[in-house]
Amino acid sequence: MPLKITVNDRTYRWMDRPLVVVCIDGCQYEYITAAVAAGVAPYLGRLISGAGTSIMAECVMPSFTNPNNLSIVTGVPPAVHGICGNYFYDPERGEEVMMNDPRYLRVGTILAAFSEAGAKVAVITAKDKLRKLLGHRMTGICFSSEKADQVSLAENGIENVVARVGMPVPSVYSAELSEFIFVAGVKLMERERPDLMYLSTTDYVQHKAAPGTSAANDFYAMIDRNIARLDQLGATVVLTADHGMNAKHGADGQPNVIYLQDAIDTWLGKNAARVILPITDPYVVHHGALGSFALVYVGRSGDEAALAERIAALSGIELVLTRAQAAARFELPPDRIGDLVVVSRQDTVIGTSRDRHDLSGLDVPLRSHGGVSEQKVPLIVNRRVSDVPQSHRWRNFDAFDLGLNLAVEAS
Ligand SMILES: [Zn+2]
Repeated sequence: MPLKITVNDRTYRWMDRPLVVVCIDGCQYEYITAAVAAGVAPYLGRLISGAGTSIMAECVMPSFTNPNNLSIVTGVPPAVHGICGNYFYDPERGEEVMMNDPRYLRVGTILAAFSEAGAKVAVITAKDKLRKLLGHRMTGICFSSEKADQVSLAENGIENVVARVGMPVPSVYSAELSEFIFVAGVKLMERERPDLMYLSTTDYVQHKAAPGTSAANDFYAMIDRNIARLDQLGATVVLTADHGMNAKHGADGQPNVIYLQDAIDTWLGKNAARVILPITDPYVVHHGALGSFALVYVGRSGDEAALAERIAALSGIELVLTRAQAAARFELPPDRIGDLVVVSRQDTVIGTSRDRHDLSGLDVPLRSHGGVSEQKVPLIVNRRVSDVPQSHRWRNFDAFDLGLNLAVEAS
C-alpha cells in the first residue's frame, strides 16, 4: 500500500485502522446537543465533552445535499468539483438539466483514489440519486438503502443486502431509510471490514422534526447506538453534515415564501427572466421544492443591476450576488450558476411561481435549508486531534483530512 495519496491537491495518509465518514443529512448542530441533553445519545455526549473532538464547521453553498456530499468525498468546493445543485440551467440548450449524472463531476473522489490504490471501500447512501455520483470510478461496495433489494455483485459489489441487514427495504420517506444505512454499515464493518466507508443519510426526519422533539431524539439515539458500535469495532468515525436545517414558517405555521418568478414577472413581464431552484429534485414532498437559495437568469436584454436591487429590497432576502461575486464568495463554478444568486433569510424560502409548488404534502410546518443560515454543521471525530491553529477555517469537506491526517490518538 502507498503511504500517502494525493487527490485534488490534498494529501491523505493511508489509514492504519478503518475510517468511517458519516454525513448526516440536515444535521443542524442542535440536533446532537438536544439528543445528548435528553440522555438518548450518550456516546455522542462523550465525544463532544472531550473524549473525541467536536468542531463547528461550515458547509458549502448552496447548503444542499449534492454539492456538499460531493465536496466531502472530493475534499474541494463546488468551483472545483462542479456539482452545485440538483439542477442547473443550460442557456445554450435553453433547458434545465439534472446534475446527478457523473458526467457533470469535474474531478475524481477520495473514495475512487483509495479504491484504485487497493483499499477496500464501501459507500452506502439513502437515495439512489446520489449513489452514482459518490461511486463514480470507485471499485468496491456501493449501494443505496432505497434500492437495497436490487443490488448485484456486478453493479454494487455486494449481494443479499436485505437479508443481511434484516430490515425490509424502507420507504423513501422514512427514518428507516437512514437507519438501514447504519445497520448495513455495522454489518459490513463486522464482516468485510472496509478500510474506508462513507455513509450518507437522508434528511426526512430533520425536514419534519425540530431538534429535541421525540422524533428527532429517537433518530439521534439510533445514530448514537450505531456509531458507538463502529467505534467498538475499532474504526475512526468522523461525523459531519451536508447542511443544517431551520424552520421556514411564521407563527401561524404557514411557510414564509417569496415567489420570485411571480415577482419578477410582475416587474418585467412574463418569463423575461428565469428563476431556477437548484433544490428541485424528484423527491420534493417533504419540502415542496422550497429552499433558501435561487438562481436568476436575467436574459440578454435585462438590466441585471436594476433587477438585483429590486430583489434585494424584497422582505426576507438576505443576499443578492452577481455571478462573479457568488462564484468568488461561495466557491461556485461560474458556468453553472445564474446571472444573479439569491439567498433568503433563515426563516424564509424562495419559490418560483405559486402554481408550480405543490405544498399539499407538507403535513407539518416547513423546515428547509439552502441559505447561509444553514452553513454551520458539526464535524466530530472519535479521536483527539493534533495541533491545528485556532484560526483554522473548518469545512465539512475536511472530514477525510481530519480522519486520516489529524486524528491522532484513541479516545
Ligand atoms: Zn441534505
